[in-house]
Amino acid sequence: MNVREEVQWFVQRMEEKMAKHDADRGDGWKEADVFSLTDRVWEELQELREKLGEYEDDDPKAVVMAIYECADVANFAMMVANHLRDDLPKDSELV
Ligand SMILES: [Mg+2]
Repeated sequence: MNVREEVQWFVQRMEEKMAKHDADRGDGWKEADVFSLTDRVWEELQELREKLGEYEDDDPKAVVMAIYECADVANFAMMVANHLRDDLPKDSELV
């Protein structure tokens, strides 16, 4: 599959945020229930909204923080999707 440059760039940001928490949380999300992970998507979305509310595009630090909040939203959505993936039939093209 051809992965767009923008998606590759964003996946790197997602992995950086995941790696940042490896020492304290590791892969603990794999044991979490799908509803609490979905709640975290919502919480991270609210954090992103707050960051955008105080956002100044001439403040590189604020830009970076907002980008990593986007990664947080995506990471929790990824976790939810991977729990759902476990429920797919083994012959699904998405497995
Ligand atoms: Mg966050």
